Amino acid sequence: MERLIIFSAPSGSGKTTIVRELLKKYSQFEFSISATSRAPRGTERDGVDYYFLTADEFRKAVAEDKFVEWEEVYAGTYYGTLKSEMKRIWDKGNTIIFDIDVMGGINLKRIFGEKACSIFIMPPSIEELERRLVGRGTDAPEVIAKRVAKAEFEITKAEHFDYVVTNDNLATAIAETESIIDNFLAK
Ligand code: 5GP
Repeated sequence: MERLIIFSAPSGSGKTTIVRELLKKYSQFEFSISATSRAPRGTERDGVDYYFLTADEFRKAVAEDKFVEWEEVYAGTYYGTLKSEMKRIWDKGNTIIFDIDVMGGINLKRIFGEKACSIFIMPPSIEELERRLVGRGTDAPEVIAKRVAKAEFEITKAEHFDYVVTNDNLATAIAETESIIDNFLAK
């Protein structure tokens, strides 16, 4: 069955860590690799972490209707899900995992309905989120300020998800998420 599980959360809430843990447990899960027009960070590789496109290449793919959904997540920076990527994963019989921004997550749930399980990972607080972003050491202070402002908005959208998991304690958040997924897959 063609299914997808959507994870959305403010940047720095621990979503990516949780998703990576789940990928280890469920062998049929495959991460949807998004396309983006931002530059690679650190050790990120093209076709592994993202499909890195120039802004022009991205806009061309939009014009050619190659995206299921796409968004200008930050001013001048595009992110999107390619139709070809979803097909690639479903063709193998796998379940698609999305690690996507909040508006993208809400859009995907609206598009795919019962095929989709959407989970919002909630940070314990805005202060803790800011501490984690600073501690990660990958973003400049003005980028962190932008992400914190965005997080405040995104938290107001949590109610649109099927489930909300608070990541206060990582192990607990993972266990809670696993039980949500087991229920979804058993349906
Ligand atoms: P980052 O630059 O930190 O990798 O990601 C920035 C934001 O873009 C995150 O909130 C991430 O979830 C979101 N994002 C990543 N891929 C996609 C996508 O395919 N579509 C949308 N709408 N957002 C995405």
